[in-house]
Amino acid sequence: MPHLITTLGPIGEGELGMILPHEHVFVDLRTWDQPGYGVADADDVVRLMRPEIERARSAGVTAIVEPGAVGVGRRADILLAVSRATGFPLVAPSGVYREPWLPPWVNTSEEADLTSWMMHELNDQIEDTGVQAGWIKVGSTDNGMTPAEAKVLRAASAASIATGATIGSHTIRGEVARAQLDLIEEVGASPERFVWIHAHQEPDIAIHHELGKRGCWIEYDGIGEPGSDARFVDLIQRGLDADLGDCLLLSHDRGWFDPAQPGGGVPKPYTYLSEVFLPLLADAGIDDETIDRLTRHNPFVAFAR
Ligand SMILES: [Zn+2]
Repeated sequence: MPHLITTLGPIGEGELGMILPHEHVFVDLRTWDQPGYGVADADDVVRLMRPEIERARSAGVTAIVEPGAVGVGRRADILLAVSRATGFPLVAPSGVYREPWLPPWVNTSEEADLTSWMMHELNDQIEDTGVQAGWIKVGSTDNGMTPAEAKVLRAASAASIATGATIGSHTIRGEVARAQLDLIEEVGASPERFVWIHAHQEPDIAIHHELGKRGCWIEYDGIGEPGSDARFVDLIQRGLDADLGDCLLLSHDRGWFDPAQPGGGVPKPYTYLSEVFLPLLADAGIDDETIDRLTRHNPFVAFAR
């Protein structure tokens, strides 16, 4: 039986309701060499983020997949502290973001060493936190993978084959996502274990559908961006019309505690989908069963192993 591997342990589908597949709790978008990078007191993060987690839970959210990989201040210890304080499960990532956020050790590591590192985190724990990684987050430069980013994706593919873990990539352009899917298939990993993160940023919907038909997940994770509701309703409706309801994922890409801001900044709530957007989907004639599939079943299947 597949389980979502969370900060609070493995959880089966029957114990979960709505899952948000791309929301941040802690991110530092400065690079590794900046003073104070990734530094925060867990208590301060709990104080800022607990109310947002509570609001999400009140709105029906039962788990969040956290995409803050190595390179953007990953702190699995802080994710664990927030989970313990709230009793709310987060799915923590292995993997590393894109250039120029790659720390130097990633550039100098062999592909096989990166695979071993990811497998250790996916099978055992991240650093010495006791947190098992639930998935692998990677990324690509907008116009195409750099050699280092391709090395990371090949390493992630090998770790995915060995563990069953899903790879999600920050990828803005459809042709880049296509090249990533080509690489994944070439090395024998499964398209069903690949999430194209930020797919909505590619204006050519034909590429969304082309890659969805090859079996990968198409993640529309900008829900709640000002003025975007009609476009997202249309994207989802067209995906459903193309019979791709089994590969769509919906999220906001919101949060988070930012160590670069005084007090961690002002987080954006994780509730727009439940409170505003899903009623719009219902008004557009999308039935409850489909909405349940898009917001509960699909994210579980995409990330469970
Ligand atoms: Zn994000």
